[in-house]
Order: sequence, then C-alpha cells, then structure tokens
Amino acid sequence: MPHKVLIIGSGCSGYTAAIYTGRANLSPFLISGSEIGGQLMLTSDVENFPGFPKGIMGPDLMDNLKAQAERFGTTMLIDYVESVDFSKSPYVVKTAGGKTEEALTVIISTGATAKWIGIPSEKKFFGKGVSACAVCDGAFYKGKEVAVVGGGDTAMEESNFLTKFASKVTLIHRRSEFRASKIMQDRAKANPKIHFMLDSVPEEVVGAETVEGVKIRNVKTNQVSTLPCAGFFVAIGHQPNTKIFGNQIKLDANGYIATDGRTRTNIPGVFACGDVMDSMYRQAITAAGTGCMAALEAERYLETLDHH
Ligand code: NAP
Repeated sequence: MPHKVLIIGSGCSGYTAAIYTGRANLSPFLISGSEIGGQLMLTSDVENFPGFPKGIMGPDLMDNLKAQAERFGTTMLIDYVESVDFSKSPYVVKTAGGKTEEALTVIISTGATAKWIGIPSEKKFFGKGVSACAVCDGAFYKGKEVAVVGGGDTAMEESNFLTKFASKVTLIHRRSEFRASKIMQDRAKANPKIHFMLDSVPEEVVGAETVEGVKIRNVKTNQVSTLPCAGFFVAIGHQPNTKIFGNQIKLDANGYIATDGRTRTNIPGVFACGDVMDSMYRQAITAAGTGCMAALEAERYLETLDHH
C-alpha cells in the first residue's frame, strides 16, 4: 500500500505538515533528511516565534515539533532522499539507505542551505577557520578576531552573536548599504566590538594550517588589503535544496520550487512548503504556516481521489 502522505524534510514546515496530516488520520511518513530538525538546529535563541514571550532555543523548538508530530502518528525515517519519480502515481521516493517508498501525495519541505562565496580558499579552509554557522563554531574564537561576510539579517545576527566570544568582529559587505532590517542593523552598529568594512569583497582566505587572514578588495578603489582574523564566517544567504527533483518539478526564477499560492506544484498531489519554495520571508513561522497549508491541500487532494 502506498503512503497517503510522504513528507520529505524535518524542519518547521515538514513537522507542521506532519502534525496536520497526522491529526487528519493520514498516518504521514516523514523522511528526515541529513540535517534532522533543519536550520533551527543551528540557531540559539528564537525570539520571534509566536507563543514564546521569553524566546525558545532553536533545538528545543524542533524537539517539541517532532514530539507533537509523533504524538499524532507520524512515522519518521532517519534517512535522506536520493531520487524521486513523479512521472506517475503512486509517486516513488528512493533513499540513500536503500528504501523505496510509494505515496499518493508528497510534501516537499527540503529547506535551503547556506551559500558560499565561491573562492577556492574558502573550501580549503572549511572547518579550519571558515564557517557558515556562528552558533556552531563561534565558541572556538574566544579572544580572537573574526570576520563576517554579508549585509543581511543573518550577517548582523551572526556578528552580534560572535561578539560573545571574539575580541573583534569585522563585518565585510560589498555595498555601502545593508539589506538587513533596521533593528538588526542598529544592534550591530551599537555593538562596540563590531567594525564595518563596506564596499569590500573577500578575494582570498590566507593562512598556513588554519585561517590567519582575508585578502579584501575595495570595489571602489580596487585597493587590496589583508585583514588579520582567525575565523571567517560566510553569511550571504541560502540556496533552496531542489537537486534531487532534477527537472521533474517546476522552479521559479530564483531556483525555488514554484507553487500556485496554495503550495501546489506543477505535479498534482505534490506540494511544497517552507524555505524550498519561499525566497521572500524564510521565517520559522512562515515555514510552519506553509507546512500547514500543504497538509490541508494534501488532505483535500486525497479526498478528490476517493471520489473517483
Ligand atoms: P539575504 O537577506 O539574502 O542577504 C544576503 C546578503 O549577502 C546580502 O547583503 C548580499 O549583498 C550578500 N551577498 C550575497 N551574495 C554575496 C556574495 N557572493 N559575496 C558577498 N556578499 C554577498 O540573506 P540572509 O541575511 O541570510 O537573510 C535571509 C532571510 O532570513 C531574510 O528574509 C532575513 O530577514 C531573514 N532572517 C531573519 C532573522 C531574524 O529576524 N532574526 C535572522 C536571520 C535571517 P547585497 O545586499 O549586496 O545583495
């Protein structure tokens, strides 16, 4: 028997879809992906998820969502999806662990992953001073100088977070204006440990075994200088995780899964929710919201199958 609902991904949107389809007695089957719990597992305080006036730690929120999904009959498989076949129903999903699952509806909630700048030395020093997650790696830089690249909310948040450990944080941004929200900018600007290097792009990470500095070019003067630092944090946004769907699912101009405003993709019975289809808001609460929408749409779609 194919699953009625198969959910790919275990972030806010996937777990919310599981809670809703579970409560609708659809016995959802959820495949976790390799980063169980998604992006919030890499966050510390979540201050803007409604219902938690004092905030909640990202991993705690995800543990709660998981427990809530399991309470309503979600079966969770710790594995990741390697390929899908959406050419005919029931749809087929194959995992790296060798499982083949069939499903009448699929809810895609594979999220998004941090972007890299694309300079070769960034890869060379990954894990040796180069990081895309201040929360994961910040504590290694107690009393040291670090650099952060980016001009969005993530860059501001990571810079502020890193000042808990680092003696100095230099925020490198390619323009003179930030796209970060005003409140996040103001917080960073008010932090005496944060210094700004504007109109600047990193060209090379330098060091012997570990990061010792970054070569930076000022895009207005073309002058190149070396900023000494022990840590180099890339915080320039995210890439939607759509690779496993090949060309079977329609994407939008930014590479996110295209949906019709009701989480429906171009394939009947296949829905997308969370950061894999949202290049605009990318919040935990909006991911949960679209997860709920996808669940309700899947339920509605299954009802139409019953009437045939
Ligand atoms: P983002 O808003 O897309 O910002 C990415 C930043 O990186 C931009 O400033 C961009 O520069 C820069 N950038 C992109 N590619 C670059 C490259 N190759 N080299 C150098 N710089 C590059 O991404 P984000 O900051 O990750 O935020 C994503 C979403 O999550 C936003 O909606 C944000 O509001 C939200 N968020 C919210 C919170 C919070 O409220 N607590 C925290 C984190 C994120 P340009 O500006 O020049 O394009």
